[in-house]
Order: sequence, then C-alpha cells, then structure tokens
Amino acid sequence: MNARTRILVTGVLVGGVALALPAGALAGPGQPGVPRFTSGSSGAGDDYFPFAGNGGYDVGHYDLDITYTPPPVTVPPTPTAELRGQMEAVATIDLVATQDLDRFNLDLRGMDVSALTVNGKSASEVPPPAPGAEVDGAAYWQVQDDAARIWELTIQPRPKLKAGDSVQVIVTYGGETIRPTDIEGFLYGWVTMRDGAMVVGEPEGTMTWYPVSDHQTDKATYTFEITVPEGKVAVANGLPSRDPVTAGGWTTWYWEAPDQQASYLTTASVGDFDLRTSETSTGLPIIDAVDRKLTAANLATTNASLALQADMIAFFEDTFGDYPFNSYGSIVDNDSVGYALETQTRPVYSSRASEGTVAHELAHQWLGNAVSPERWQDIWLNEGWASYAQWMWSEHRGGTTAQEAFDDVMSIPEDDEFWDVVVADPGPTGLFVDPVYDRGAATLHALRVKIDDTDFFAGAQEWVSRYNDSTATTEDLQAVFEDVSGQDLDAFFDIWLRDPVKPTTW
Ligand SMILES: [Zn+2]
Repeated sequence: MNARTRILVTGVLVGGVALALPAGALAGPGQPGVPRFTSGSSGAGDDYFPFAGNGGYDVGHYDLDITYTPPPVTVPPTPTAELRGQMEAVATIDLVATQDLDRFNLDLRGMDVSALTVNGKSASEVPPPAPGAEVDGAAYWQVQDDAARIWELTIQPRPKLKAGDSVQVIVTYGGETIRPTDIEGFLYGWVTMRDGAMVVGEPEGTMTWYPVSDHQTDKATYTFEITVPEGKVAVANGLPSRDPVTAGGWTTWYWEAPDQQASYLTTASVGDFDLRTSETSTGLPIIDAVDRKLTAANLATTNASLALQADMIAFFEDTFGDYPFNSYGSIVDNDSVGYALETQTRPVYSSRASEGTVAHELAHQWLGNAVSPERWQDIWLNEGWASYAQWMWSEHRGGTTAQEAFDDVMSIPEDDEFWDVVVADPGPTGLFVDPVYDRGAATLHALRVKIDDTDFFAGAQEWVSRYNDSTATTEDLQAVFEDVSGQDLDAFFDIWLRDPVKPTTW
C-alpha cells in the first residue's frame, strides 16, 4: 500500500532506452471527470534503479503458487555457478489503479509469461511495440534487456482501467532458475542452490521469481503455496496457513504474511531444513529453519545465536517499541550468497548465524522493514540503525559499548577513503559499503549524545510509529528528531551524512 506521494518517471528516454508511452501520455490534465487513459510508469521514481517498481497502481496482495524443481544431482557434481532449477508458477495480484490506465507494467526478470488475465479476461502475447505504436486488444509483452538492466512486463488491459478500479491480474509464468546478480555482481533474487534455493531480493532482485512492482514504496501482503520435491522444505515469510500436503512425491508448503511487506523482503527459500517452533514470553511465534547439513562448528554458533532471539526481541521492544509483525525466526542455509538479509519476519543467513548478525537482522524488522527507505539513496536508514542496534546489543551483553564502537569509527584517520562516502547518497553501487553501516551508526550515536538519551530514544520510537508500514527519507528522520528535541539539526545531518570528510565538530 502506498502511504506517501512519489514522483513518477514520465520521460520516454531513460538510460538511453525508449519506452513505449502512448501519444498524449505527457499532455496536461483533461476535463474533470473525463478519463484520460495513459501508461503507468515503468519505474517507481527511484534515481538508483529507474526501472524498479512501477506507477499507476497500488498492489494490495500477491498470491504466489510456485512449483520448484531444484537442480538434478549429478556425478560429478555440477559446478556451483552452473546450477539451474526449474520454476512453474502462477501469481495472482490484486491491485487498485491510481490513474486511468491504458497500459501498466510489472517487473519480471528471466521468466517467460505463458498466460495472463486481467479481471478474468485473457490478454495475448505480442512482440514489444515501437514507442507510440498502437496495439490491438488486450495484450502483454516482455522486455528483457540484461545489458541495460531493464526487465519489464507490460500489460494492455481491455477494457481500460479507471482510477480506483480494483483489478486482479493472474500471470502464469516459469522458466529455468539461475543465479542472478545485482548491479555490483553479488548474488541475489532466486539463487539456485545445490539443495534448493536461497531467496534474498535486496534491492531489486525479487523480480527474478515473480511479477512484482519491485520497489518498497508499494508494500503489500502475501500468501504462498510452494510445491517442492518430497523431503525438501520451503520457508517463506509469516506463518504457515495450513499443514504441508504431500502427494505423488511432491510437498506443498503454505505460508501467509499478513503484514505490509516491501518486495525486497520477500523470501521462499528451499532446502533441507529442520523447522523448529518456539515462542517469546509474550507469545510471539518463532519459526527457525536450519539446514541439516551445517558443519558442527556452524551449527553450534547458529544454535547459540538463535537461542538469544527471544531475549533480543524483548530488548529491542524496550528500545524501539512493540515488535511490528506476526512472527519471527531465521533461515540458516549451509549454502552462501555471501551475506545475510533481513527478509521480513524471517532473515536468511549464509552458512551460519552469528550473534551480532542475528541482532542486526532482528533490529531491521523495526528499522528497514516496518519503516523502509523511501529511496535507495536512504539505505543508511536501514544499515546505520541496524548497526547501531547491534552496538547497543553488544553493550547490553557486557561486550563492547556503543561509545567504544563509536570511538573505533572515529579512530579512522581523516585521510582514509572511509570518510569520502556521502552516506546519505552513496550511489547505486555503494549501497552496502562500510561507511553506510559504520558512519551511519556513528551518526546515530553522535545524535544521541547531542540531544540526550531521553530525546534520542523518544525519537527512535516516534520514527517507527510515525512511518510504520510505510517508507520515509533522511529528511523525515531529521524532522522527527527536531520535533522531539526542539533543536535545529540541519548542520548536524549535513556534517554527518552529506559532507565527504571526517566530522570534527557537530
Ligand atoms: Zn543490514
């Protein structure tokens, strides 16, 4: 659900690629009450990823019915990089048009659409038309431009859609699953693994496994039916909606995630997992999925860390307010994408889950998931907060204090390139660089010292409650802390987040 206004991409040339916009799409408003049918934008307006997300509608719910066949076991084993699986799926998407729509887009990468209906009416597949060209009747087409990183499914509904219309789009699709990579070359999306798949979508890799408006400004709820070979376990967000059903050598796993969720936080990982169910002292269900093949050392580390989750939830509830979702738990895979991700209610860990990383991914449930960055340039709002929460957890446990962690950051020499990053705008290939995390966390510690603990923690709770189930910007964060402290923080945030030099006074 959108809760905030966003600027839509309306240019016809983005990244040097012409997009099909009908004649008149850029014209002024028409007469009041007279529909003006235009194309929904092919992007959500994010400068870093212009084709992520879409405009012209607001998704309410995704129902994903996926059958997944992991790679065959071969002798000798297939090299990891060449692992391929097979997906056959139906996505049922409930959305509301927010403008009069002649056409609209979903993001879908590497999967072929074989059938598509809008409100029960079939659309025919056609080749992508030239910009401005007319297409007859209900139709859809796919653009798959790996070089330009443009992956769009365009739908021309007939009849056209009016603003406010409730629409159900059913997309039947499938294909070979690969090991997709992000703009920096890191694995993400539906990553095919020897024993299943690790599914981690940040920032715009979720489009590799279902048609989606792949930007956090359009949060939605989810239901999942994931069918895998008997013996495999599929773990998604939220809670099981019913017991798994096994028939004919296949098992279907049912999950339901009723909380508003950003697309990049969706998972449906498949593997040889043991499911472990417990709950916190306040009754929050915890479901962990731990790969049966973890090494003994990794299993010991993982078990010790996961045993602390209930205590961590209590600690962060004291700090940031009530836990925002219906459940929690972790997916710990013996495979690796090289990082962990805070997928909503159920983070994914590579090879093992260490205590610090578990604290970090848990804190993201409030900071990043309940409140998501409005634009990817605001990524420090996720990583600075989660890193700072990790510092606080360490101090709570009698380890390094937040002040000591801050002092460590400030011991980095002023001529170190660490200080060259503009934390509030690190660039699309700089989302996950160290300063976003560590200078981000140091920013929050410096703020805490400047305005005092009372105002800092009041501001932290106000931040989560004001923007819960939504998105917000760095400017919004500044406004919250100015409200609670009564101080003008313009200079403070410029020095800490925008000046590419080491802060000295603030
Ligand atoms: Zn993080």
